[in-house]
Amino acid sequence: MTLDKALDAARARFAEDNPASRAAHEEAAAHLPGGNTRTTLFYQPFPLTMASADGCRLTDLDGHTYVDLLGDYTAGLYGHNNPVIRGAVEAALDGGWNYGAHGPDEARLAAVLCERFPSLELVRFTNSGTEANLLALATATTHTGRGTVLVFTGAYHGSVLSFGDSAFPLNVPHRFVVAEYNDVAETASVIDRHAADLAAILVEPVLGSGGCLPADPAFLAYLRERADETGALLIFDEVMTSRMSAGGMQELLGITPDMTTLGKYTGGGMTFGAFGGRADVMAMYDPRRPGHVAHAGTFNNNVLSMAAGYAGLTELFPPSAARALFERGERLRTRLDAIADGTALVWTGLGSMLTVHFGPGPITSPRDLRPAPALRELFHLDMLARGFHLARRGMIALSLEITDTECDAFCDAVAGFVADLPAQRPE
Ligand code: PLP
Repeated sequence: MTLDKALDAARARFAEDNPASRAAHEEAAAHLPGGNTRTTLFYQPFPLTMASADGCRLTDLDGHTYVDLLGDYTAGLYGHNNPVIRGAVEAALDGGWNYGAHGPDEARLAAVLCERFPSLELVRFTNSGTEANLLALATATTHTGRGTVLVFTGAYHGSVLSFGDSAFPLNVPHRFVVAEYNDVAETASVIDRHAADLAAILVEPVLGSGGCLPADPAFLAYLRERADETGALLIFDEVMTSRMSAGGMQELLGITPDMTTLGKYTGGGMTFGAFGGRADVMAMYDPRRPGHVAHAGTFNNNVLSMAAGYAGLTELFPPSAARALFERGERLRTRLDAIADGTALVWTGLGSMLTVHFGPGPITSPRDLRPAPALRELFHLDMLARGFHLARRGMIALSLEITDTECDAFCDAVAGFVADLPAQRPE
């Protein structure tokens, strides 16, 4: 069977198997554009609508159950319905919520984050990773009195900070300059040109949405060096990568940025973001100081995120759990690499974050990526049919609920896909 025919058959089977999801999508489209309020979740012919979740499993409206390998794009680190998170949220609800005043949990959560992440001397909370990055950039431009921000190809720092293939119309109007991720020579020339006005260097230590491409440690070390030399603030966006160790990639690599942004699972699966870093930089937000800068936000200290975040980090994700998760991901990728050997599949990633691409490899920077929309769609539909939920773009983020049993079953499923792979045709 050719690739086109295999894809047609997979789409037809998906549509036939999921009438309730199709109906839910059509109903939603009456009031949400395309039935959607989070673009990443959309795929053709229509996305599944989930009815419930427990542990590492999701159940859709048509009653199919899937192993959840996506883990809500890293936000679902604790899996679904974890009793510790549920207990923390219920206890917070028992105390009432939305105080319009300080609560006890925000200081506890701040303390545990500052203990774990080497760069965090002081931290503030937001409602999302996007907002955390917006605030980190605004902090950098205010602190330095400069306006240029260096970002990298393939980077995603939020819904208004996206640096994929083409210029993104919703991006906030900072003076962005873009260099190729992992390319020291190109980065050097961009920094040389903009050194005098450089406020910030914003970088994901592993490109997440951009395809799970780890930064070369030498590349990050170079950014550290140039930030010191130019006076720009080095900001690690660890919204996804904070899971790589108890103290994120900065701890793993021993490279300390000036500022860090967090989000996703760090709020225990509730809405969350955080930005923080050097005390001399963050001091601008100290309301006891004359001339301080105001940073408001109705839900910055919402009790559910504060309580769930603290319980998750302290009870479910101690350093040993972070190490074990990292190692499980590394073992899984090694096995998937072996299955992919000699095929069109190329796995990239680090620790518990992985993405499948379609060759040729190796892939170390966005410029190595080749679009393969038909194979990508076929892989996604095939994995759903085999009972595995992952991102349409091929991303996986293991939760703490994923065990060897699910990893073994997923390796079998990928081996099955490879064995059935239709005749390769250039797309
Ligand atoms: N930064 C990175 C690296 C991300 O992956 C994301 C989201 O995927 C964000 C920032 C934005 O976070 P949020 O979706 O919470 O706004």
